[in-house]
Order: sequence, then structure tokens, then C-alpha cells
Amino acid sequence: MRLLTYERDGAPRLGLLLDERVVDVAEAASALGDATLPHDMLAFVEQGDAALAQARRLIEALSSDGEALARSSVPLAETRLLAPIPKPARNLVCVGLNYAEHAAESRVTEGLPEHPVYFTKPPSTVIGPDAPIPWHGHVSRRIDWEVELVVVIGRRGIDIPEERALDHVFGYTVGNDVTARDLQRRHQQWYKGKGLDGFCPLGPWIVTRDELPAPQELQLRLRVNGETKQDANTSDMIFGVARLIAVLSLGMTLEPGDLLMTGTPSGVGFARKPPEYLQPGDVVEAEIDGIGLLRNPVAGE
Ligand code: ZN
Repeated sequence: MRLLTYERDGAPRLGLLLDERVVDVAEAASALGDATLPHDMLAFVEQGDAALAQARRLIEALSSDGEALARSSVPLAETRLLAPIPKPARNLVCVGLNYAEHAAESRVTEGLPEHPVYFTKPPSTVIGPDAPIPWHGHVSRRIDWEVELVVVIGRRGIDIPEERALDHVFGYTVGNDVTARDLQRRHQQWYKGKGLDGFCPLGPWIVTRDELPAPQELQLRLRVNGETKQDANTSDMIFGVARLIAVLSLGMTLEPGDLLMTGTPSGVGFARKPPEYLQPGDVVEAEIDGIGLLRNPVAGE
């Protein structure tokens, strides 16, 4: 199932993708006599398996009733998508140096990290598909890209065993961990350089866990103005999704709707020779097979 947030009458609404159309989940469900499905993504994720089961029934009903589908949906091409979770309740948890080649190109540690390197980005970094990445040219001229697989937590848990960690996943989306490299270095902790407004494009939608049973076999890539800069596979992660969740949850409760960005592979701008950084008007495309394409322009001067 592909769940998304789109703009309708100026407000965010929960939608699901069916035959290249966006179904308004709450409206379509109540038209079919079920008024319990919410109109926002976070509430839906919190309802967990019950909401997913109801949404599956909704898809079945609409798949066999073309008129009902047409009434309760709009073509995807005519909608404006927002980030799947436009305002996360908490900071996004991110992981640094989680691909061996990227750890090597970054040259900040000898060898590979023994433990996941967690840091966070504030919710104010989140923007949706096609939204411009703000140009903070007065603050930094070393703004870089990082395509990442993003995990949406679905089930609350603490001290989650690695072998059950994927049961706590609601689904996956694509993220771009935009980073001001000079600020990242200057302030030592990465929060500032990775925390500027609009520095976390997310989307285009969440693919539920049942559709991606093997999160360590996904090809991910990033293009700037059509030119491929990153092209790797999640099989190259040092710590896989299950391990990242298990270790993060030690003594620390994960909540439904929490977002975990799993690190970027090699090919980022600062490590290229010569280094390359984003410029006003550039177009960045982050893509993961089986999930989708997240495209964002960089705003003008
Ligand atoms: Zn990152």
C-alpha cells in the first residue's frame, strides 16, 4: 500500500495511491459507511494494524467499483503532494557513516564505526516532493545531498530485539539529508549543519512494510540536474534497519510516526574531486527502487 499526504483546500489530507489516482482515505471510507479512518497520516500510523486492515478493505471495495473510485479520488498528476508526515512529532533520528564507502570518503574515522552514529534533524527541516530546498546562501555555500532510505516506525517499543525489529516498522520512504558541510564541521555536532529549514525533503509516499519485506536489497540513487551522483544498494549498509532499530531502542522508547534515516552511500558532493555543491536552480532527484522518486529544486537566489 502507498500512503501519502496531499494538499486539499489548503490543508494536508491522508491519501492512498490506487491506479495513479489519490483516494481521500477518510472521505472514501466514510462514504462506504466506515467513519473511523483518520484524515492524517500520524493518526493513521498510530491506529496501526487496525487502520491498515480497514484501508485494505477500502482498496478492495474501490477496486471493484469504478464509479466510487472516481468520486472519491483525483488524478495523482493533479495533486500537490506534501511530505508523508509533514510535521513529525519529534526530531528525525539519522545515522552517519553507515555505508563503508561513504565512511571511507568522509575520512572522519579510522576504519568502520563499531556502533551506529546517531544524530537528529529537527521537524522544521521536513519539506515535501517538488517543494524547493531553501537557498541559505548567506549562511553556507557548501550545501550537499544525501539520498537515504527512511524508516517510519509503526509500533511503540523499547529494548526491541533485533529479530523482531522489523515488526515495528510501518513502512519506508525516501529522504534527502541535505547538509551544509561547513556548518557541520564548524559546530562539531551535526545538528546545526543538518538542521536548517527545509533540509529534509521526504516522500513521495510511504510504502508499507508488507510490500518491502527485504529492506536490505534496495537500490538507491541520486541525480543532480539529471547526472547520477550516488548509486548504491542498501545491502551495503554497515548496520541494517533491524540492527539500527534494536540499538536505538535500548532504554529509549520508539513511538509510532518516529522517522529513522538510515545513512547515505558514497557519492556525496564534498568528497568529489573537485568538490561539488548544490546551486540555486539545481534539481535533485533521490530515488529508491520499490518506493519512488523524490524530486526537489533548489530555490533561486
Ligand atoms: Zn545522512
